[in-house]
Amino acid sequence: MKVLHVVGARPNFVKAAPVIRALAGGARQTLVHTGQHHDAAMSQVFFDDLDLPRPDLDLGVGYDSPSAQTGRILMRLGPVLAPDRPDICVVYGDVTSTLAGALAAAQHGVPLVHVEAGLRSRDRTMPEERNRVLTDHLADWLFTPSPDANDNLANEGVAPARIHLVGNVMIDSLKRLLPRTDPGRVLSRLGLPANARYALVTLHRPATVDESAVLREVLGVLAEASRRIPIVFPVHPRTRARLAAASATPPGLHLIPPLGYLDFLSLEKAATLVITDSGGVQEETTWLGIPCLTFRDVTERPITVTEGTNTVVGRNAGRLRDAIRSALDGGDREPRPRPDLWDGHAAARIAAVLTCEGDRAAD
Ligand code: UDP
Repeated sequence: MKVLHVVGARPNFVKAAPVIRALAGGARQTLVHTGQHHDAAMSQVFFDDLDLPRPDLDLGVGYDSPSAQTGRILMRLGPVLAPDRPDICVVYGDVTSTLAGALAAAQHGVPLVHVEAGLRSRDRTMPEERNRVLTDHLADWLFTPSPDANDNLANEGVAPARIHLVGNVMIDSLKRLLPRTDPGRVLSRLGLPANARYALVTLHRPATVDESAVLREVLGVLAEASRRIPIVFPVHPRTRARLAAASATPPGLHLIPPLGYLDFLSLEKAATLVITDSGGVQEETTWLGIPCLTFRDVTERPITVTEGTNTVVGRNAGRLRDAIRSALDGGDREPRPRPDLWDGHAAARIAAVLTCEGDRAAD
């Protein structure tokens, strides 16, 4: 079986690594990096930490608008798909490269696999939501992380035979790397003691950082919280640009470049509290049992709230202030069981389905 994987952004690398590993031996694999995230801190460090193979091809689309990136991916991926047609094309998650890879596969008649299918925020103003919906409706195999995703796809009329509940591939990477994490090593680089209490922050969604009024309010709340607890904030390139444009340099925060996966996981597992607008971070904190405040109005990952440690605060600085206060004042939470199938074996389940279907197609 010839498998083409299309990846382009930080969360893609975390999701693709276990699938590529699970398919090794049984498939001829080609890895295409679109270049959506291309600098060392957003790309190479993930290849190193996750033992990803070097991409066979880098499309070099660079930082640009989603439309420009999509156009370049379509133009540059076509010539790869046409001459040596893969049996399947695998795309991951909900970024621009996900939908562009899906469109390219559809245009060239290559069967499409979507890993992390079926998640829905029901907020079509989010680019990620549009990417999810469109990719799912182009896909031939849809691998879902949780039962709510199956329900969403069923409600949208996706044929049940295409949908496979396999669990969460992000947790495959997390479980594999966890033994190598070392919070003390990362904290010492920040001048913090190994047993420090701290809040870890990631914010990068357009809805959070593109409106300078919202960004300033959030930074104000974080600066206020930093009087109670150190705030460690690895800053995404998009956020860095917005901070520079708004000339905003909040006092009291550890604003640092984006961290590699191993370093970020190290800080995540020992954090007192995580504040985020990321999708993946909501899932990782649920698995780790770390309280998470999500600075968004909705989540496409409701299981992190119903079964996990996540609280969706809303995109409101006052509510974030209150939520931080009650999280810091509150006692330890009762540990909860982890969501079903978030067990480190999701990629093995994906490989089993694809290998079985591939053999059937070859018969
Ligand atoms: N992450 C990381 N370094 C950071 C921030 C996040 O390695 O400085 C990891 C995090 O552990 C998770 C992934 O990046 O695995 C989430 O990516 P992101 O928040 O960019 O995307 P989303 O999950 O929102 O699509």
